[in-house]
Amino acid sequence: MSGADVGDGAAGIPPHGDAVLRVEGLRKSFGTTPVLRGIDLEVREHEVVALIGASGSGKSTLLRCITLLESIDDGQIFLRGDDISDPRVDADRVRARMGVVFQQFNLFPHIRVIDNVTLAARRVLRVPRAEAEATALALLERVGLADKAREYPDRLSGGQQQRAAIVRAVATNPEVLLLDEITSALDPELVAEVLDLVRELAAEGTTIVMATHEMEFARDVADRVVFLDAGVVLEQGPAADLFAHPREERTRAFLARFR
Ligand code: ADP
Ligand code: MG
Repeated sequence: MSGADVGDGAAGIPPHGDAVLRVEGLRKSFGTTPVLRGIDLEVREHEVVALIGASGSGKSTLLRCITLLESIDDGQIFLRGDDISDPRVDADRVRARMGVVFQQFNLFPHIRVIDNVTLAARRVLRVPRAEAEATALALLERVGLADKAREYPDRLSGGQQQRAAIVRAVATNPEVLLLDEITSALDPELVAEVLDLVRELAAEGTTIVMATHEMEFARDVADRVVFLDAGVVLEQGPAADLFAHPREERTRAFLARFR
């Protein structure tokens, strides 16, 4: 990490490392409808970036493009300098370098929790079963789910399922954790247990990009907030600044809904 890569402590931005993820000029249309209209985004090591914006602004599409679940029309995506938008890349291997959790249906219903958690390590990274299971059990233990390891996902509450999904996402030591509104489908009383786990991972230095409508959580946990509006990054900045002093009228209007 060179001096130039370190955040400006004076501006209240904690120091961060090198770019883990870089998105340049990303464009994506569905049919004739442009959904991402030239997105530039950089995420540095240990940084927590909250992606906010109205429903339909393109948050999920952006995360799906980054995880290679959607093809892109233009632009480039780099993971630690590797151009992962190159069509020749092995998508499975790229995805094994990222942890991803969606709003719902994260766990495979037909296999036990432990097998969900170890699947990527065993299949993609070729980690021996015993080793993968030991890692998985330690992680499940940490989040209070050790006793659910041998259960099928439908025996877990929604909050437990999302925590198991997060465990699965981090089990391979991903370079970046991508979270897409992971608490949106949960009953309100289950939200905190999931956000607390994200908070812990953030505190440990996990690099995180999270699309979220939990504004209070974003303000508390995110280093930087990126406001997406109709497929462009309209405004971004340190969480405290952006929430206290949004520059753009549309950002103000969006944030006003949460007051
Ligand atoms: P957000 O996550 O911010 O709510 P999305 O990325 O889900 O936004 O959606 C952005 C826009 O792209 C919306 O208008 C949505 O209808 C459209 N869209 C998303 N996925 C598809 C798809 N597979 N086919 C067609 N349109 C889509
Ligand atoms: Mg979405």
